[in-house]
Amino acid sequence: MTNPGLASSPDVDARASAPSPADEARVVDAVPTGLFIGGSWRSAASGRTLVVDDPATGKTLCEVADAGPEDGMAALAAAADAQQSFAAMPPRERGEILRRAYELIMDRIDDLALLMTLEMGKPLPESKGEITYAAEFFRWFAEEAVRIDGGYAVAPNGASRFLVQKQPVGVSLLITPWNFPMAMGTRKIGPAIAAGCATVLKPAAQTPLSMHALAAILAEVGLPDGALNIVTTSDAGGVMEPLIRDGRARKLSFTGSTAVGKLLLEQASEQVLRTSMELGGNAPFLVFDDADLDKAIDGAMLAKMRNMGEACTAANRFLVHRSVADAFADRLAERMGGLRVGRGTEDGVQVGPLVDAKGRDKVIGLVRDAVDRGASVRVGAEPADGPGYFYPPTVLTDVPLEARLTSEEIFGPVAAISVFDAEDEAVAAANDTEYGLVSYLFTENLTRALRVSERLESGMVGLNTGLVSNPAAPFGGIKQSGLGREGGSVGIEEFLETKYVAIGFGG
Ligand code: NAP
Repeated sequence: MTNPGLASSPDVDARASAPSPADEARVVDAVPTGLFIGGSWRSAASGRTLVVDDPATGKTLCEVADAGPEDGMAALAAAADAQQSFAAMPPRERGEILRRAYELIMDRIDDLALLMTLEMGKPLPESKGEITYAAEFFRWFAEEAVRIDGGYAVAPNGASRFLVQKQPVGVSLLITPWNFPMAMGTRKIGPAIAAGCATVLKPAAQTPLSMHALAAILAEVGLPDGALNIVTTSDAGGVMEPLIRDGRARKLSFTGSTAVGKLLLEQASEQVLRTSMELGGNAPFLVFDDADLDKAIDGAMLAKMRNMGEACTAANRFLVHRSVADAFADRLAERMGGLRVGRGTEDGVQVGPLVDAKGRDKVIGLVRDAVDRGASVRVGAEPADGPGYFYPPTVLTDVPLEARLTSEEIFGPVAAISVFDAEDEAVAAANDTEYGLVSYLFTENLTRALRVSERLESGMVGLNTGLVSNPAAPFGGIKQSGLGREGGSVGIEEFLETKYVAIGFGG
């Protein structure tokens, strides 16, 4: 499998058969709704709950425990208690836990996908893609758990020896966003378990159910009590800040917006925590005059429309050579305009709702701003009334570079196309952002492909592909898109410390 999970474009993989209301109720009812602390599910100390909605209908799916600061502290204490024995567990056993969890996730993919679609909105085929991708992190890190290495070397002067050893970083705090409710969790939990770090994970308040279902699976396959604790809360800052400042945790791994990431970095500085930051993006998508337009359109559909555009890797700015801009815009408008929008549980639906009213209002505002500044609408831009937070796939052309959507994350199904004439101009425009997560580049000229890839200021480049995510590859950004990498052989390093023992050699 070259691209586990996320490889299918929304317009070629929409063949799920619709689940019944009874199926929906069954999968929601099966999810534990408490806080997962020290291996058991419990109510919040305050007794409070928070509501989880279906963004396609605005209706309540269920209520889950709403943690307060004392629950957060209980979770940290449970992780701290578990840390030593979890670190001492043989790597093979930690790996086997991940491997068994991978298998159970795949066995239950239909129910897990339905649960994700209900809480987050993406169409069922995309939820299945995410579950596969999420599970692959467990399979990958099951294999990495037994490959943690070290070294032994002779000092240059021969008088001593160096023993280099990798040890778990210790208790780790994990914070995840709503847009990939399962994969953003497994991308952190997988390497943490492989390395032997006990964790406290706070999922996004809007989409906690996938993480609760995952915690239940990990408990079922024998994860020791306290090795993973889940605190869902409506008071993210109030619960997490004391944990970050406490001193027992040694690591903070965050995926979310750059604004929140910066705040957390400040908080993490108090105890000098190790940090991994997977933050926002503003991906340029470059199409040169020598591009294969079929590939570029397929790539654009993936890079723009996966997850309804609610992805940090979403193509945010299409920069297309003037000579092919019209053809590219026509074909993209035809493909995007042909997508079926609706509730993600329905047969054949390819585009679900945005996550909430705020997300939709942001998209509406960004499109209006671009049009006011002179952009033309090729397709879309007219959201329908009614329940749910739907926004139609939209293509804008002649987007001036000063439009707000060229500098802000759109996080919606809107392709904004601008033209360029020269390679230098395209590269300068692509790099003209404080973000640096991913760039996409379409050209059939090998020299240009390599030259431009080197010049693009981003942690990842999609060269003639609209998808870079892969559990076996190092995912992450530069500039204000983040610190550190998740996945690949470096992913586990984020949860390991290097210890060096100097060995005197006598005489
Ligand atoms: P967000 O508002 O930054 O929230 C992310 C997580 O942080 C949520 O769990 C949120 O909790 C929590 N949070 C918010 N304020 C906090 C605080 N003061 N202290 C501790 N935790 C806090 O981002 P989002 O809107 O959920 O996600 C979208 C963003 O994530 C986009 O910018 C996207 O690009 C980025 N993202 C990046 C990657 C990547 O790998 N680089 C992947 C996916 C998404 P609540 O849910 O309670 O607000």
